[in-house]
Amino acid sequence: MFILDEDSERTAGRDAQQANIAAGKAIAEAVRTTLGPQGMDKMLVSDSGDVVITNDGATILSEMDIEHPAAQMLVDVADEQEAALGDGTTTAAILTGELLSAAEEFLDQDLHPRTIVEGYWEVERIAADAIDDCILDDDEFGEESLQQAVESAMTGKGTGSVAVDALAGTIIEAVERVDDDGTADRDAIAVEARTGRSASATEVVDGVLADADPVRDGMPERVDDATVAVIDGDLEQREPGVDTEYAISTDEQLSTAVAAEEETLVGYAESLATAGVDVAFVTGDIADRTASALASRGILAFEDVDGDAAAVAAATGASQVPGADEVEAGDPGSAGAIAVEAAGDDSVVRIEAGAGEPRATVVVRGSTEHALDEIERTVNDGIDVAVAAYNRREVVPGGGMVEVAVAERLREAAAGVEGRRQLAVEAAAEAFDAVPRALARSAGEDPIDTLVELRAANREGRAGLVIDGDVTVADPVEHGVLDPAAVKRESVRSAVEVATMILRIDDVISAD
Ligand code: ADP
Ligand code: MG
Repeated sequence: MFILDEDSERTAGRDAQQANIAAGKAIAEAVRTTLGPQGMDKMLVSDSGDVVITNDGATILSEMDIEHPAAQMLVDVADEQEAALGDGTTTAAILTGELLSAAEEFLDQDLHPRTIVEGYWEVERIAADAIDDCILDDDEFGEESLQQAVESAMTGKGTGSVAVDALAGTIIEAVERVDDDGTADRDAIAVEARTGRSASATEVVDGVLADADPVRDGMPERVDDATVAVIDGDLEQREPGVDTEYAISTDEQLSTAVAAEEETLVGYAESLATAGVDVAFVTGDIADRTASALASRGILAFEDVDGDAAAVAAATGASQVPGADEVEAGDPGSAGAIAVEAAGDDSVVRIEAGAGEPRATVVVRGSTEHALDEIERTVNDGIDVAVAAYNRREVVPGGGMVEVAVAERLREAAAGVEGRRQLAVEAAAEAFDAVPRALARSAGEDPIDTLVELRAANREGRAGLVIDGDVTVADPVEHGVLDPAAVKRESVRSAVEVATMILRIDDVISAD
């Protein structure tokens, strides 16, 4: 009995496993040399000739044109991690490749894939404990360590001409700005990219920005202590129904209709003025007559603000209402200042110091669109990392120290792991060694000598590979090389997830 189409391709058993493992390892190899502050760049060239130069693992993985499904799984998990935490994807890819290599040897020795998978799950637990034990004590964690963790996460990513420390400072300012009872909400921080000025003009706005132009000239360009309405609807004459259209047959009826329309359109402006509104954000359209009535009452109004309405409402504390008449009852919001600024041919509205939830916007600038994309990505990643480290107040020493500690812990713990899974746990220790080795290599050091030195130094105290000008084995904390614990945990989790997912597949069938 044939259940598959004649043309469908199928690879099963060891062949399928081998091919999947090879694909996963190939991806890991592709990013290995980019690890660390002195990692090499990759140049990615698309079919259409677009060029991206980067040494950010996540960018490389997402830009690579990958066809193999197992390799694609690695990329998907890296994407997830990048989206959630903004960092640690190169490390995760290297670990995945190493876990797969180790598994390959076991499969050759006829160890069952399930045994290896279970061993790797054990590895994830042991590693998580070892990472927790590396977390800096409260008395060592502070403003400075937060700054250092963010800087370390941004190293090697594109920051254009902006100094990493300045950028990290800006990001932390934004995170502190949205602090609510010791916790920062990631969604309360927006990033706006603007071309034009040099990137050093990156700044934090104490609120939100909206892309909108005043609906009419002659409206105020700045309002302090503004009362703000957010209207989700139109300020226009409602479409006349069929009946009303037929009803107008005489001149008299026509002028009555015109007067009624005038009353409605001007009425919108009057309602807003009565509610004390200084600035109105409208998601739909504003009729010309209404716009002029608003302008003559000194009200600043914007239409078509659909994309920004929710953020403006949240920042100012205004409730979104369906029309002008509902504004008063719906409680308008307020902002310390609302200002219209030119941005190229368009304008942008700054809504600062709102009475609603704390909000911050990091405005990044770059000289070209290309530079801007890269720096925007870096800033977004930096914010992810900063929020993770800020909220949990958990950072660990970087420079490979955590990986050396995890490897050591795995070697100790392996003996206590029952049965053949123990082999997988032992092998995983070597997988973690690959991270400091890769760091050493990218910094021009001998990977084996460095690893040996690191291990010995770690038995005495805290030691990692510190890369700043010269390369030394030293206490990463003293040199400000820190990573958020969440990033380290997630790298391990991602690597184990992908490796075990790939190992459990023993049949690849092409499907529609
Ligand atoms: P990933 O995608 O995994 O974040 P990176 O290229 O950003 O890869 O490299 C991160 C690694 O580099 C981490 O292990 C981090 O501790 C280490 N690192 C960052 N800055 C330094 C430094 N100045 N010296 C040594 N190691 C560093
Ligand atoms: Mg990184």
